Amino acid sequence: MDGLRQDKGTAFLFITHDLASARYLADDLYVMYAGQFVEHGPASEVIHHPLHPYTRILLDAVPDPRRRTLAVISSNKTVADLTNASRGCRFAPRCPAVQDVCRQIEPEEIKVAQDHAVRCHQYDHST
Ligand code: SF4
Repeated sequence: MDGLRQDKGTAFLFITHDLASARYLADDLYVMYAGQFVEHGPASEVIHHPLHPYTRILLDAVPDPRRRTLAVISSNKTVADLTNASRGCRFAPRCPAVQDVCRQIEPEEIKVAQDHAVRCHQYDHST
């Protein structure tokens, strides 16, 4: 894929849970949770400065021989109720950084740098 990209200028939409491979193939990364983009930006920016808790967990789940454990999303917590998706953050039931506001108000996308945006109340200083 990278050869085709380099040689032919072919564009790819590469969908994966594996950020280890995405970091080598992608120019831009869009992280999606429950049908919604929660963070996006240039691949190197998102990989080296992840902002959203879900992005951080995905990166911590990449096998690394220097770490003895992998990150997991707790399986004893529920997933988002998409029939009531207009209320609160969709990642709130599983988020390690959840606050009261997260369960009440759906976060807006916040631009934190020229091309880097995140959907999380941790970066919304108006709430
Ligand atoms: S808005 Fe709250 S629940 Fe959602 S990702 Fe951010 S900290 Fe976690």
